[in-house]
Amino acid sequence: MLKKGNKLYSIFTGACPKCHHERMYINNNAYVLSETLKMHERCSHCQTKYKIEPSFFYGSMYVSYAIGIVFAAAAFIISFVFFESGPNIAFASIVVTLIVLLPIILRLSRNIWINIFMNYDKRILKEQANRND
Ligand SMILES: [Zn+2]
Repeated sequence: MLKKGNKLYSIFTGACPKCHHERMYINNNAYVLSETLKMHERCSHCQTKYKIEPSFFYGSMYVSYAIGIVFAAAAFIISFVFFESGPNIAFASIVVTLIVLLPIILRLSRNIWINIFMNYDKRILKEQANRND
């Protein structure tokens, strides 16, 4: 499922959406909070510019909202249904989940957002191979 050439690969690893050859983020660890959203300007492999237009990644807010709801629902179901906790604890577990997972949610939403606008391009790999011949 997570092979190069599949959008999910780029979404879950943060790889360049066009060539899947390198990571878009300067630091691979999302929990270094000062660098969570720091990205390279271009892919050094295929020269794709990540920020297509100014404030391009503001749109990923919509995606992060949806992902947040998914995680919040999961936290609620786990604490309320499986652990049979009361509504207060279920609510607290939602808050804690969203705070702890915030860096991951932010990156996932950026990865999904950029993958809506860019597709994997097999030709880049072929061109690269031809150039090396
Ligand atoms: Zn690339």
